[in-house]
Amino acid sequence: MKITIFGTGYVGLVTGACLAEMGNHVVCVDIDAAKVARLRGGEIPIYEPGLEAIVRQNHASGRLEFTVDAAPAIAHGNVIFIAVGTPPDEDGSADLQYVLAVAATIGRHLDRYAVVVNKSTVPVGTADRVRTAVAAELAARHAAIEFDVVSNPEFLKEGAAVEDCLRPDRIIVGASSDRAVALLHKLYAPFNRNHDRMVVMDERSAELTKYAANAMLATKISFMNEIANIAERVGADVELVRQGIGSDPRIGYHFIYPGAGYGGSCFPKDVQALERTAHSYGYEALLLGAVEAVNRQQKTKLFEMISHHFNGELAGKTVALWGLAFKPNTDDMREAPSRRLMEALWDAGAKVRAFDPEARGETHHLYGDRDDLVLCDQAYDALQGADVLAVITEWKAFRSPDLARIRATLAEPALFDGRNLYDPATVEEAGLAYYGIGRGRSL
Ligand code: NAD
Repeated sequence: MKITIFGTGYVGLVTGACLAEMGNHVVCVDIDAAKVARLRGGEIPIYEPGLEAIVRQNHASGRLEFTVDAAPAIAHGNVIFIAVGTPPDEDGSADLQYVLAVAATIGRHLDRYAVVVNKSTVPVGTADRVRTAVAAELAARHAAIEFDVVSNPEFLKEGAAVEDCLRPDRIIVGASSDRAVALLHKLYAPFNRNHDRMVVMDERSAELTKYAANAMLATKISFMNEIANIAERVGADVELVRQGIGSDPRIGYHFIYPGAGYGGSCFPKDVQALERTAHSYGYEALLLGAVEAVNRQQKTKLFEMISHHFNGELAGKTVALWGLAFKPNTDDMREAPSRRLMEALWDAGAKVRAFDPEARGETHHLYGDRDDLVLCDQAYDALQGADVLAVITEWKAFRSPDLARIRATLAEPALFDGRNLYDPATVEEAGLAYYGIGRGRSL
């Protein structure tokens, strides 16, 4: 099939590459000319396991093209995806300007029936707004061209995006046109061979499904962080509590890890946007507000523990930091808890020596060269001249550290475990002070 995708970010690029991998001819459009030039040159702007290989192979075979030119791209696709950003507006609601700009562009150039598929995470009612925006442009040029708008939210996880896209748990299709549903059935057939993963519903329910999924996941994290904060005060170990409750199949072990707070480009903005949607319909979503508040507080947790360790005197101290990305297997630093920690440490006069397997470039891009930040090439280099170590992203490479080496290198051997990766007793036996999240003795 002939596919057009607007936006070559995490969602657009991964979707384009995976659809090309299944034999479709995909044209990806982006307004960022530098990004398109890099993609054409075989350079992948983001780190995502497995992505580089399928982009290169499909680009080389001619099934995956990149352009800044919207008109020929719209002439190409029978299915036109919108996968551009929906960042938070000033009041926290989703900013639809990029989505609606693409819709208008489609309306200006569409010359025959196509299905416009919205993959961006958008508030309930956006399918109608996209339909209106396309129709307005068609009407302006007196073009009687049929089209359908479908809501097809994306559920891929950064760090496993290619895998998720090739083997989705479910494919949500919100549509009110049988013709559009039939086309999407055909498009997604290769992903449905094992069993039909497509769940068809109306557009509004599809749009809300995406927000409900992210809000539920964010709620699980904030809930466990809340329990961790209680555990810490009552002298319990949240890791034991986690295993104790996870064994109940109604609760399950997934996604109940306490830590340094959630970040990334989705959970923070989507919880906020859903809260704004509720508010605009006259409903105060109290639970969502609490989920956000707990998370905001949790992101200051590691700083508070480090500050407490040094009796509030952080000036002149150096903190080694393992992990920068908001989660493992990505270089994404959007809303990463590491940023809050580093900024608080700098404000208090401390220095940071940091290591992350993938996010060093992005961190440098964000903060530039500064005296109080050294980005190291190796995990153990970050310990040189540092007083203490904080671990904030649970990369696999950090799971079995050489504790003797850490102890020997740090000036004041203490380990702040922002993801509860380590056994407190083992760390203490190695001669380091241990601070975890909700482990009965953190503060
Ligand atoms: P991103 O910021 O990585 O990429 C967006 C891209 O769209 C950019 O390259 C930008 O230049 C391009 N763009 C903006 N306006 C354009 C236009 N008019 N024409 C063509 N290109 C344009 O965003 P992302 O992380 O891929 O997210 C896209 C959407 O998908 C968001 O709504 C997000 O909430 C949602 N989503 C993201 C994830 C994720 O893990 N990143 C997962 C599921 C859903």
